[in-house]
Amino acid sequence: MIGALMDAGANLFRLNMSHARHDWVREVVANIRTAAAIRDCVPAILMDLQGPAIRTGDLPAPVDLVKGERFDFTTNPEKEGARVARVNYPSFLDDIEEGATILIDNGLIRMKVLHKTTDVAECEVEIGGNLGSRRHINLPGTKVNLPALTEKDKADVAVGLELDIDYFALSFVREAADVEQLKLLIQSEEHPPRVVAKVEDQHAVKQIKRIIRAADAIMVARGDLGVECPYEELPIIQRRIVRQCLKVGKPVVVATHMLESMINEPHPTRAEVTDVANAVFEQADAIMLSGETSVGQFPVMCVEVMDRIARRMEQERGARFHKEADLNDEREKLAKSAVGMADDLNADAMVVFTVSGRMVRESSWMRPKHSQILALCASARVAGEMALFRGVRPVIIEGFCPDFPVLDALATLKDRGYLEVGDTVVVSSSTQAVEKISNSVQIHKVA
Ligand code: PEP
Repeated sequence: MIGALMDAGANLFRLNMSHARHDWVREVVANIRTAAAIRDCVPAILMDLQGPAIRTGDLPAPVDLVKGERFDFTTNPEKEGARVARVNYPSFLDDIEEGATILIDNGLIRMKVLHKTTDVAECEVEIGGNLGSRRHINLPGTKVNLPALTEKDKADVAVGLELDIDYFALSFVREAADVEQLKLLIQSEEHPPRVVAKVEDQHAVKQIKRIIRAADAIMVARGDLGVECPYEELPIIQRRIVRQCLKVGKPVVVATHMLESMINEPHPTRAEVTDVANAVFEQADAIMLSGETSVGQFPVMCVEVMDRIARRMEQERGARFHKEADLNDEREKLAKSAVGMADDLNADAMVVFTVSGRMVRESSWMRPKHSQILALCASARVAGEMALFRGVRPVIIEGFCPDFPVLDALATLKDRGYLEVGDTVVVSSSTQAVEKISNSVQIHKVA
């Protein structure tokens, strides 16, 4: 199935640690790498850390909650009972205010806090439903004082490092310091994985510029964001985040509920098609499926649907937010010139030589109009990281070095089926070769 997803167009695999055991992760990562090796493709692997998620405790039996009834939450195990559920968050009663809203199961159940004592929040049911054990709780507007990284997250990070995954995603980032804490934890690695900040509540939205600066990439995690914020704000928040990422050159992922109905149906709704197209129009780097491919009945079809919509939408002009980019150094300006040249020539591809992936990220940031970026490198880790960037196809070439002969590189790309005779390509590099930085942009016709 993983191979079939790749064939349909998937180029990044997220492992959601809210649901994954370590032995399962090891097996899946090995399966992804085996399927990729057969296909000469380099997908990224992203480990999504659960972060400071709040949950209800175990209940003896599910409870039917009816509008207008009382139901309480406690942090004290001795107070648990038929109409009092425990919360796994020790400071819950310090942080929650009377009048605050408590949402359970992504907002399916809604409660209001009427009164709080030292260890119980007395609540009224505003929207009823069936409450089971260990349900996800959202506290919109309440600043949660849980640590950014739990002990579970740290154990998961160790497995991610052992497996040399490409990205960690940090859930419920509230401020830039949360991202910095994770980076500190992994910085002693030779090639630490990159960090994606998941924006999923109002605090993150308020701190967005600092979070974008601190993170290597951003995910607009619309599942929780749509519960934590008024839903009519969601399209505005999404657009603002994508726009800000394109201003400063950070990759951005739009995630969740993109093809939700396809969990059970073989066709997308018209609204879902428009939503996917909108994210591609905004020129996000990546669009992400969740339940559609993890528990849905039509995983491959979902990827095909996204791929089809994305390919069509990419022929349109797009929002072009990168026109507002803050370009600071000469390399970024070189990337912009190379992309301008590729656009003017209607080039079939851009070929970018890279050691660290930076020139590729900068070229992708300038959003070439027609040309796919073939990113040549020597390292699987750099290739995996680049898989997230918009319009980039990482290609690992054995023996690749910064002064690798251009004609040999083009011949290799042709032999491996990435280029055809007669293709126009813009080749660019900004790499250190034998103590000198060599910047170059060249135009070639594939012979
Ligand atoms: C989300 O909330 O949109 C999201 C991607 O996070 P998770 O799947 O971990 O809930």
